[in-house]
Amino acid sequence: METEEKINSLDVARRQVDIAAEHLKLDPGIREKLKETKRELTVHFPVKMNDGSLKIFTGYRIQHDVTRGPAKGGIRYHPDVDLDEMKALAMWMTWKCAVVNIPFGGAKGGVQCDPKSMSIQELENMTRRYVWEIAMMIGPDRDIPAPDVHTNPQVMAWIMDTYSILKGYSVFGVVTGKPLELGGSLGRMEATGKGAFIIAQEAAHIHNFPIEGARVVIQGCGNVGGTAAQFFDRAGAKVVAISDYQGGIYNEKGLNVAEALSCRNQYSCFITRESTGWEAITNAELLELKCDILIPAAIENQITHKNAPKIQARMIVEGANGPTTPEADEILRDRGILIVPDILANAGGVTVSYFEWVQNLQELLWSEEEISERLIRILKKSYAEVLHISQRERVDMRTAALMLGIGRVAEATRLRGIYP
Ligand code: NAD
Repeated sequence: METEEKINSLDVARRQVDIAAEHLKLDPGIREKLKETKRELTVHFPVKMNDGSLKIFTGYRIQHDVTRGPAKGGIRYHPDVDLDEMKALAMWMTWKCAVVNIPFGGAKGGVQCDPKSMSIQELENMTRRYVWEIAMMIGPDRDIPAPDVHTNPQVMAWIMDTYSILKGYSVFGVVTGKPLELGGSLGRMEATGKGAFIIAQEAAHIHNFPIEGARVVIQGCGNVGGTAAQFFDRAGAKVVAISDYQGGIYNEKGLNVAEALSCRNQYSCFITRESTGWEAITNAELLELKCDILIPAAIENQITHKNAPKIQARMIVEGANGPTTPEADEILRDRGILIVPDILANAGGVTVSYFEWVQNLQELLWSEEEISERLIRILKKSYAEVLHISQRERVDMRTAALMLGIGRVAEATRLRGIYP
């Protein structure tokens, strides 16, 4: 979706801290500390391209907070990657890990690039050199990357391999979201989309409508959006629209999800022909469709004060990080539309990443059932805790989730004390 003015995600993240801090009556010094990132590394590095030329890329690794454990957060390859976006995403990771109460702090990294225009060899060269540049910051006991937009298990394998070469032995626990053959965990690939589905189920249950037959609209068809679509489809929901960065497809009666995703995989777009049983729509139109559940699962700042008055969903379950601006939050709240915030709704991914890390460190192999059962238990408990705060404090679910996450980090900070 095109936005005329660029919204700064770091401003949004800091405003959210202020809102939660007011409710929590946080010490002003601690509040300022939580609004700042602990470490920021910017790297500029050359990569040999296929045509023999050298291209200089800019990458980042940011650690927001490590009070509750090693930093944890994904690696993004996207043209819009910049320092402020990375800082905001790292901050959201800190709150997210605290909301689901796993012993991690928050981090994020990325390279400003257009991965769609690069060959596999160029992506591998760029990944390996980027890992070499940030190697002093990462490690299984300090900072553990994972997949994010346009990175996948193959990229995680290159990260693990490069870091291991630097160390001289295999270090599986340095990164999560790896292929199963290289210390990856069962259930990690689908964890974020599945988590968004589990959280949507909880929300729908409390708001008294069944998932079966519910109209679901999903922006983004990658790891999060595509997986969520399959879970909703299997549960009997009607996925009426889905998109990628080029636009979306719509069928009032419900899409054939398997066919739509396989078409997207095969042709790298949703080709639209009469016979495919869907019509083309833009991402902007998709967000404004009438539905029960809207799942933004692409990038930040998609729901703003401009389109919030036109959203026709009963609830929004944020698969993406930061898809809704604070202005849009207010408009949607006044219109009675429930928002289940990102730091709860997409926490399934980091939760199973935590399981992967634990298995790597202890050389364990958990079964799919064990992982699924642990994931469901953690997400349901976290949903109940956020709902409880929301009802007790009479605040929306985002403020409640921020209060839970930020409150836990603030308390851990108080207990550790300030050095020296
Ligand atoms: P992905 O690369 O697998 O998929 C991203 C999807 O978004 C693709 O379908 C892409 O075409 C679409 N997209 C990209 N730019 C777009 C634009 N400008 N407008 C509309 N669509 C656009 O990435 P992913 O891992 O599915 O991540 C999606 C979101 O979920 C991100 O906000 C990410 O930070 C968040 N998230 C991911 C995970 C995870 O485990 N992968 C965990 C938590 C949160």
